[in-house]
Amino acid sequence: MQVSAKDAWKRILDEARRELPEQAVITWLAPAEPLSLADGCLALGVPDEFAVKWNEAKHGLILSRIAGQVLGQKTEVAFRVPEDRRQRPQIDFFVAPPPEAQTTPLRVAQSSLPLNERYTFDSFVIGKSNELGAAAAYAVAEAPGKTYNPLFIYGGTGLGKTHLMQAIAHAVIRRNPGTRVLYVGAEHFINEVIEGIHNRTMPDLRRRYRTDVDLFLVDDVHFLEGKEATQEEFFHTFNALYESQKQIVLTSDRPPKEMPGLEDRLVSRFGWGMVADVGLPDLEHRIAILRKKQEQDHLETTIPDEVLTFIAEHVYSNVRELEGSIIKLLLYASLRHREITVELAREALADRIRPSQSGAEERPKALPSIDKVQDVVARRWGVTPEGLRSKARIKSLTVPRQIAMYLAREVLNMQLVEIGQAFGGRDHSTVIHSVDKVQRQLAKDRGFRERVDSAKTELTTS
Ligand code: ADP
Ligand code: MG
Repeated sequence: MQVSAKDAWKRILDEARRELPEQAVITWLAPAEPLSLADGCLALGVPDEFAVKWNEAKHGLILSRIAGQVLGQKTEVAFRVPEDRRQRPQIDFFVAPPPEAQTTPLRVAQSSLPLNERYTFDSFVIGKSNELGAAAAYAVAEAPGKTYNPLFIYGGTGLGKTHLMQAIAHAVIRRNPGTRVLYVGAEHFINEVIEGIHNRTMPDLRRRYRTDVDLFLVDDVHFLEGKEATQEEFFHTFNALYESQKQIVLTSDRPPKEMPGLEDRLVSRFGWGMVADVGLPDLEHRIAILRKKQEQDHLETTIPDEVLTFIAEHVYSNVRELEGSIIKLLLYASLRHREITVELAREALADRIRPSQSGAEERPKALPSIDKVQDVVARRWGVTPEGLRSKARIKSLTVPRQIAMYLAREVLNMQLVEIGQAFGGRDHSTVIHSVDKVQRQLAKDRGFRERVDSAKTELTTS
């Protein structure tokens, strides 16, 4: 007997509820629309490419297995964006289209800073370094005030925090144009409070922040550190909005626990919902980001793949730098009427590219990879690389793990957040602590120093 796509999906979903977290089912699976069931494949429609990728990566295998079980034959579960949805703006899948062509300007609340049109989910490229933050942002946009509140996104500069935060606003406004969004930088908030106190206009400010807002986005909250009067005001604003179940989204360059200049009651509130980090993208991710930028912004000129790869290999400090590199290259090429080649990129981006060590013609010496660092340390300290990457806190692993972190910093010049990720997703305070510990040991223990130096030599010369 042939089951319909709808029935099949219902049966799979019932089973999936037992295995997957409730939140994952609500956010990602329940809204999917069964499209067809044919040739051993159940196709599900989701609102955008983001949801396709996320569902495939996170739930594809489990669902295909369940499908096989409940349908009694091998069935693959695949996600795609239905053709007719592609024409429409993202994430308006679950609601009726607005009555007439929607031209209402963004209903941003008074005193909100404008949103950047380009910072949407569709233009955000997901990779390992940001998938948690991106998924959390997406879930929040799907159900503001209901999933994670507040959402706290942290990470280094130029890694997409503001982009993700604003993507939430765009998605929510598209879905529900009446939403009152208030987007401010923490510095702006501080200035407003200072002015409010000075001009005795606090009641007005409180109304604007506490009652006229549905979605409250505060960028770079680390600026609140040490600003006591502002923190007091912020605390009450936070409470008022939180209690009326308004969604709050915050970004910072550090996790809440690492903000000593912030009152404890704020630190604890910031951690109530979801705290997610964004880190440095790896090479593959950087190439994907460059491709996306090229597609989106520079349609008129094609940058050859090998040039994009060249840029991705050499520019890795953050995404903003990557964007800047494309623009610089295009400008350089157009001013000189030259074709875009790797040679030209090398010239145009000379100031951003790590100089080669010996002679301009030679390729710069490649740094060892983090895997290599872990392998070398593991071998020399008699443990396994998996052990180093694991969460296990046994002493035989802790010391070599700290040494490997130290070497990642010293030899590879990796960022703390990035190192944390390479060692089982530890946060960067753990990395700081480890590096510090090794440095202190190096200073006082000669045998230790010789052993670490010898590992370092192996890494830098082989
Ligand atoms: P932050 O707020 O973390 O300092 P931004 O959100 O301002 O960083 O991002 C810097 C630039 O890089 C922006 O132009 C943003 O669009 C872009 N960007 C960052 N991450 C991504 C990504 N994953 N995909 C596409 N663009 C990105
Ligand atoms: Mg920012």
